[in-house]
Amino acid sequence: MIIVKGTVVTAEKAALADVRIEEGRVVEVGNGLAPRQAGEEVIDAAGLLVMPGAVDVHTHMDLLVGTARASDSFLTGTVAAACGGTTSIIDHMAFGPAGCNLQHQVDAYHVLADGKAVIDYGFHGVVDRVDEGILDEMEHIAAEGITSFKFYMTYDRRLDDESILRLLARARELGVLLCVHCENHATLTWLRALYVAQGRTDARYHAKSRPASCEAEAIFRVLTLAKAAGEAPVYVVHTSSAAGLAAVAAFDANTPPAFAHLETCPQYLLLDESSYGLPDGEGLKFVMSPPVRRAEDREALWAALADGRVEVVGTDHCPFYFSEKKRLGEADFTACPNGAPGVELRLALMHSEGVVRRGMSLSRLVDVCATTPARRFGVYPQKGTIAPGSDADIVLFDPARRVRVTHGLLHERVDYTPYEGMELVGYPVMTISRGDVIVREGAFVGADGRGRYLRRSLPDLR
Ligand SMILES: [Zn+2]
Repeated sequence: MIIVKGTVVTAEKAALADVRIEEGRVVEVGNGLAPRQAGEEVIDAAGLLVMPGAVDVHTHMDLLVGTARASDSFLTGTVAAACGGTTSIIDHMAFGPAGCNLQHQVDAYHVLADGKAVIDYGFHGVVDRVDEGILDEMEHIAAEGITSFKFYMTYDRRLDDESILRLLARARELGVLLCVHCENHATLTWLRALYVAQGRTDARYHAKSRPASCEAEAIFRVLTLAKAAGEAPVYVVHTSSAAGLAAVAAFDANTPPAFAHLETCPQYLLLDESSYGLPDGEGLKFVMSPPVRRAEDREALWAALADGRVEVVGTDHCPFYFSEKKRLGEADFTACPNGAPGVELRLALMHSEGVVRRGMSLSRLVDVCATTPARRFGVYPQKGTIAPGSDADIVLFDPARRVRVTHGLLHERVDYTPYEGMELVGYPVMTISRGDVIVREGAFVGADGRGRYLRRSLPDLR
C-alpha cells in the first residue's frame, strides 16, 4: 500500500511526503513513490494529515471498581479508540482481590483483552502494597512486557510514604516507570464527610471536596520521595491544576526535577468546574478524580503543554452510563462512580483546541498524543512515529472538516459525552493499524480481536 500526496507529520516535522507500507510496516517515506507491483493499493491523502496512530497510555477498559464496571470492554473501547485515530492503548489495571500478587491481575487482564481488542494494547501493573514478594515479582512482570506500574496516594488501596519509597527505589533499580495518582487522601476524605454531613451533596461538592491543594501536596510529596530514592522517575497521571504545576516548579527553584514526567487529559484542558452546576443532575457526568477545575487551571495546563513541562495527553477513559450509574449520585455525589468517557475524541479535541485555536504546532500535537507516550512506555519506535521499520499505524486526518460533537457520532459504549455540542475543526477520516485499514469514514471495518499484546521495552525517559 502507498499513501500519497499527504502531509506527513512526525514529532520533528510536517512535510508533504508519501508512505509505503509492506507487511504491516512502514518501509519508505519519500516523495514521488509509485506502485511497485500490480494490486498495490494507492490511498490519495491530498489535503490530509498523515500522522502516526495516536497512543493512549491512560485508559480503563472493563474496569471493575466497587460495584460498578466501566461500560467499555476491550472490544468496544478499542473500536472507539480506533475511530478516533488511536492505534495503541496502555490500560491501567483495576486492583485484584485483596492480597493478590502482581501476576494475578496480569492474567486477569489478558482474559479481558486477548482476542477482543482491535488495536494493539499493553497494561500498566498496579501496586497496592509493598513487601518483598511484590518487589521481587516486579522483575519478571517487567520481563513480560509490563514495564510500568501505578500506585495511588488516595483511595482504600493507597500506599503510605514508606511503601512508596521502597517501591521507587526498586523501580529505579529495574528501570521501570511508576505512574502515580496524586491526591492527599486524608484531606479529601475529611471534606467529603464534612459536606455530606452538611447536606451539601450535589456534584459541585465532588469538586470542592478534592481541591487542587490536595493534588499539589501529593505531587510535591512524591517528588520528595523520588528524589530521596535516587531520583527515581515518576509519571504523574492526569495533572489537573495550576497548583499541581506550581508544586513541581517549587520543588527545586533552580533545576526542574528531570525525574518528573507529567500527563494531563483533554477534560482538564477543555472543561471547567462550571459543569458541576448543570441542572437536572447533569453535573454528575463530570464526576471524575481529580475534578475539572477553574478556567485559570486550564490556561496554566495549556502553557505547560506548550513549553514541555507537561509531556503527554492521555484520556483516563473510564465510562459509566449516566442513566444507570452516574445518576446513583443524585442524592449524594459520593455514590456516583468516578470516571468519564474520552478515548475517541482526544486527537480531534487536541487538534481543534490546541492546533487551530491556540497555535500548537502539528508536530507538538503528534508528540504529546503519540511519540512521547510511546517513548515513555517502551513502545517507540515500533509505535508513535512514521519511519521505516515502524508499525504502519497511521491516521489520516482532515484538518478542515467541521464536526459538531454529539454522543450519536461516537462509538464509546456509554450514553453521553462530556463534549456534547462542541464545534470541532478537524477530524480523523481513516485509521490504519499494522497496514490494515480498520476505520473508514467513521465506520469500523476491521476484525474483532485483531489487536496484539504489546510486550513493552523499558521506558525511554530522555
Ligand atoms: Zn485513571
